[in-house]
Amino acid sequence: MKTADIFDEKTVFSLEVFPPKPDANESVIYKTLEELSDISPDFISVTYGAGGGKNGCKTIQIASDIQDRYGVESVAHMPCIGLTKEQAAAILDSMQDNGIENILALRGDSSGSVQGDFRHASDLITFIRENYDFNIIAACYPEVHPESSSCADDLKWLKHKVDCGAHHLITQLFLDNSYFYDFCEKARTSGIDVPIEAGIMPVTNKRQIERMVKLCGVELPKKFVRVLEKYEHNETALRDAGIAYAIDQITELITDGVDGIHLYTMNNPYVAHRIYDAVQSLITVTSCARA
Ligand code: FAD
Repeated sequence: MKTADIFDEKTVFSLEVFPPKPDANESVIYKTLEELSDISPDFISVTYGAGGGKNGCKTIQIASDIQDRYGVESVAHMPCIGLTKEQAAAILDSMQDNGIENILALRGDSSGSVQGDFRHASDLITFIRENYDFNIIAACYPEVHPESSSCADDLKWLKHKVDCGAHHLITQLFLDNSYFYDFCEKARTSGIDVPIEAGIMPVTNKRQIERMVKLCGVELPKKFVRVLEKYEHNETALRDAGIAYAIDQITELITDGVDGIHLYTMNNPYVAHRIYDAVQSLITVTSCARA
């Protein structure tokens, strides 16, 4: 099923996982997926390391297994930086052969100058639209992409991605819902009319959030910093506070009519289950109102 169609029927609740590292035990991801599939998410997306290395094969295999073994729709991420058109076509052919219908088309990041046929995610989206029949999803940034010179510029290019063929957007994580509301209002005013899913990351350890802030330029609200400072030396308390914080964010978003929630699970089924259990009835009520 194409993910863009699910939004007509319900408030979407989806999950993100990442493939195991090359030297890790492969069976762990399948145990994780088995536990996550109990939630019956609308789809599970699988990340893909930029550069098109071996990690990509795992992404395709896992995305395919999510559908075949667990009966859950899947989305394969695909960063295009550094790829030639021939390499991109080989990846896309493999996704098609493995029954994958949904692709999160991304640029990816690189530390130096790179060769390749794609400069931006929009180039990959156009390439896919011209040659394949995938449902295309794209990334967006409520706090503006770190490389953008302004919010207006970022929105202009986001609109371009949608015009090129993205049917559904997923946001980068944010910890202050006001950024999301502001972003959605501006996106709608700019003529972006596809579903926008809110990407929520439950922060359960300090190192994780420090890395994310550095990488994504996400602001830490005062309320969140207080939680972090209070519980940073107690693993269980910080985990529980992080779960409670994510539940608060999601409760507000669903109540205010968000199209969907995309939970960055960090491959942690325990955390995903606690969050889902707390918001499941809200999803049911808002989905009934939508149907
Ligand atoms: P783009 O859409 O190309 O945007 C990058 C910058 O260029 C922005 O500033 C934008 O405003 C500008 N821009 C866009 N189009 C144009 C244009 N045509 N001309 C000029 N400027 C333009 N990375 C991975 O490597 N693997 C993953 O699996 C992965 N999953 C992700 C999932 C989500 C939901 C998100 C939000 C991000 C993910 N990323 C992943 C990270 C992503 O690759 C980075 O954020 C990257 O810096 C930008 O990717 P993009 O697709 O948004 O790029």
